[in-house]
Parts: sequence; C-alpha cells; structure tokens
Amino acid sequence: MLLKREDSLLNDIFSKIDHEQELSKEDLVCLIALENAADLTRLYNLADRVRQKYVGDEVHLRGLIEFSNYCRKNCDYCGIRRGNRKIERYRMPIEEILDTVYEAAELGYRTVVLQSGEDMRYTADNLAELVRRIKRETDVAVTLSIGERSREEYERLYEAGADRFLLRFETSNRELYHRLHPDSDYDERMKILVWLREIGYQVGSGVMIGLPGQTIEDLALDILKFKELDLDMVGVGPYICHEETPLAGHANGTVEMTYKVIALTRIVTRYAHIPATTALATLRPDDGREEALQLGANVVMPNVTPVKYRALYELYPSKVCIREKATQCRGCIGGRILSLGRPISQGYGHSLYKKLNALGTAKFLKEDKK
Ligand code: SAH
Ligand code: SF4
Repeated sequence: MLLKREDSLLNDIFSKIDHEQELSKEDLVCLIALENAADLTRLYNLADRVRQKYVGDEVHLRGLIEFSNYCRKNCDYCGIRRGNRKIERYRMPIEEILDTVYEAAELGYRTVVLQSGEDMRYTADNLAELVRRIKRETDVAVTLSIGERSREEYERLYEAGADRFLLRFETSNRELYHRLHPDSDYDERMKILVWLREIGYQVGSGVMIGLPGQTIEDLALDILKFKELDLDMVGVGPYICHEETPLAGHANGTVEMTYKVIALTRIVTRYAHIPATTALATLRPDDGREEALQLGANVVMPNVTPVKYRALYELYPSKVCIREKATQCRGCIGGRILSLGRPISQGYGHSLYKKLNALGTAKFLKEDKK
C-alpha cells in the first residue's frame, strides 16, 4: 500500500516534468533520492529530451587555461589553497598566456576560459590588457574564472572585452559555506553574482556535489538557486578529496549523485549551458563526461594549459589528461563527442538566455553585434 502511494507520487512528479511544470523543493528532494535503475533511466531520458528541445544537439568546447596556481584564499576543499605548502607554485607570464590562447584558437576553440587561484599579482590592468589583446588578435570569446575582485575591477575587465565570468557559489547552505570558507562570505559571493549580471557578463556559477556535511535538501535548494539567479552556465562537479587539505580523509562525491543533479539542473533551468566537468572525468575516466552529455550536459572544457604546468594546478588529485598536449586533448574529446552522434559547435556558444532575451529586451549577444 505504502509502495503504491510512493509510486503514484513519483508518477505525479514525472508527469509535472512532462508537462513542463515547475518542480518544488520537495519534488527535487524526492528525485535526488531515487536509486532504482528504472526510475533513474526515466529521469535521465527526460533530462536528455529537455536538453535536446532547449539547447539542441551541439556540444560547445571551451579551451581551459589554468594560468596561475597562487591563491590568497584557504578554501577547505581545495588543493591549491594558500595553506598547502607542499605544491610548487607557478604563474604564467602574460605573453605565454597569449601564446596559449593563439594555440587554442588555432585548434578551433571559439572560447577560452582563463582560470586561476585568487592571484592578485595579476592586477585588473594586467588582465584587462591581456583581454584586449586576445579580443584584438584572435576571434574567441573570453571567460574569466579568477575569483573575487572589486566591482570596479569586474567592470574594467568587461569593458576590455571579457564576455563571461565563472564564479561558483559552491553550496547554497550558508552555514556549510562558512564552515568550508574561512576567508569568504556567503552574501558577498552572492552579491558578486548579481554585480556580474548587472555589468553585462554572461554569468556562470555552480556547486560541488558530496561536500562533507551536504544533504539532499541542500542540493535541491542549490538547483532552485540556479534558477533564481538566472544563470547562463551551471557547473556541477563531484567534490574530490585532496589529502593536503583540512578535509583529508573525507569521501568523494559520487558520480551517480552528480548525474542526478546535472539532469535536474537541465530540467529546471532549461536553457543554461551545463558542462560535463573534468572532475566527473576524474572519477570516471572512461565515460563520465559522455554519460553527462546524454543526461543534460552540452559543454566540455578540454585543458589547453601548457603540459609543464598541468600537474601543478591540482585542485584535486589525479586530474585526467595532465600529460596530454592540447592537440591530443582536442582530438580525443572531439572523437568522444562525435561517437555520441553529437555535432561540435563551430560558434562562440554564447548564452542562450541572452539569445531569447534579445527578442524582447535591450540585451543582445556580442555575436549578433558583428
Ligand atoms: N579561484 C577561483 C577559480 C579556481 S577554483 C574560484 O575559486 O572561483 C575553480 C573551482 O574548482 C571551484 O569553484 C571549486 O568548485 C572547484 N574545486 C576546488 N577544489 C575542488 C575539489 N577538491 N574537488 C572538486 N572541485 C574542486
Ligand atoms: Fe583559491 Fe579558488 Fe581554490 Fe578557493 S577554490 S582556494 S579561491 S583556487
């Protein structure tokens, strides 16, 4: 009897998804708790259908350049936190970053993601000049993922031509956020995401799955937060334990939980770009990213960082592809995506929200300006 009631509750939720109705926090908790293989297949198929309807079959590639592993912060989970004295630190000179961007552009990437620890040695002026040169000398969209700065610095970087900014809020559980971030503030982080949108960036954020102390309820609220923030991109990856951090000994997030959150993020946000993350490939190198692309994801971010630095950018241990050259990564990923029967986008892969908004509001795509 009880089982019957649960079955019919689940059928009601699936039918809500079918009819494109909004899911409540309770609905999301129920779906995140699913473990039965048949139910999960049903969920993943629905997410794949939403992905196909709203963002199409194309997979967007973003070339990731990890240009510095210096960081002024001490986030509890992160291998490059300032307190880790066991890693060798590096900083790529501006010219070397530019050369890497040229290489990425030659390989066909239409977006480069410049990521680093919070390294204030690169001033906003240094970075703005770098962005200006990239935009002048190559034909790529620029995403920045450099952590927290002042509003004025974000403005200057946007004016220099940066298109997008990635800043995960990591968890929407304020208490958990503060436990893991000794030198960050939850409200500050959220305020920055609003600034970035106001300034005009396409905004990416996201969370880690399986953080110590995180609950299924937290994950449901994370997904609702993605929608509330109207994000253009949502990165969802498993937490992977790094032994040289205060969280040493904690379990990793699971691939299954990550899949569930990706699928529900697609269903709830519809248009957001969702990457199949490297952290997922680290836990499941054979097909972690491919599976994610078939249950909601539509972006892959291959590493184009010069090989000599790759192993040093150790947010978490044993990242995949730390020995492969950029050309090899491009070929390998390209082959994997095509084997799924999905085409690789030749465009910049700008936000799809903005494309929609362009019809009704003053917002427009940089792509459309040309
Ligand atoms: N310093 C910048 C960008 C680099 S960190 C910032 O913090 O925004 C990029 C992302 O790596 C973080 O947002 C976090 O979600 C992820 N990350 C860090 N340590 C990790 C770990 N141990 N396992 C999985 N992801 C991790
Ligand atoms: Fe620094 Fe980002 Fe790692 Fe935090 S997550 S320690 S800000 S690199």
